[in-house]
Amino acid sequence: MKILLVEDEAGLILTLTDRLSSEGFDVRSATDGERGLSDALAESFDLIILDVMLPKRNGLDVCRDLRQKNVHTPILMLTAKGETLDKVLGLKLGADDYLTKPFEMLELLARIEALMRRSTNTNGNATDAFRFGDVSVDFRRAEVSKNNQPVELSAIEFKLLQFLIENRGAVHSRDKLLDAVWGYDAMPTTHTVDVHVAWLRQKLEANPKHPQFIQTVHGLGYKFVT
Ligand code: CA
Repeated sequence: MKILLVEDEAGLILTLTDRLSSEGFDVRSATDGERGLSDALAESFDLIILDVMLPKRNGLDVCRDLRQKNVHTPILMLTAKGETLDKVLGLKLGADDYLTKPFEMLELLARIEALMRRSTNTNGNATDAFRFGDVSVDFRRAEVSKNNQPVELSAIEFKLLQFLIENRGAVHSRDKLLDAVWGYDAMPTTHTVDVHVAWLRQKLEANPKHPQFIQTVHGLGYKFVT
């Protein structure tokens, strides 16, 4: 389970990283809002712990930007005592929960557990089937149809599509897609990824030359956008 901790208090970063790591979480930290936002967009996390008062870009803006960019990772906001307005605003902007500083570590762990449980449930339901444009994907049966006509996908094309959908909104480098879809042992080149993306677009996009869903992020890789 990967957690992104966006917090500027060195002491708190240290304490939280220590404790969460000892609980088995893989913790990454960012010390300002801009860095937090770019980290959260660059790769997928299971949870984001986001402080409100941050240098460069505050937590509320980061939260709103992430949701606007279709990043649906659960967000737990940290607010200072008495920032009631921030709590309400944070939830309105798409945060899933908040915790007031100072807090007990056990309280934080309980919230994290609850958020992860909730998100697993949601994902479990949401990923049985998924629709975008004229396309519908049935993950259980590994079937795809477009305008109610079955679309033939190879196993690797299906895996690639599934990965992109499940991690939609985030940008994935070609290397990351190779690892996630083809596996570490496979030896295809990054060009293989481009070829398969092109095939998916050919089969699923209304206009493969101007893809609406499977988008190229120049210099970085690909992302699925709805
Ligand atoms: Ca702060």
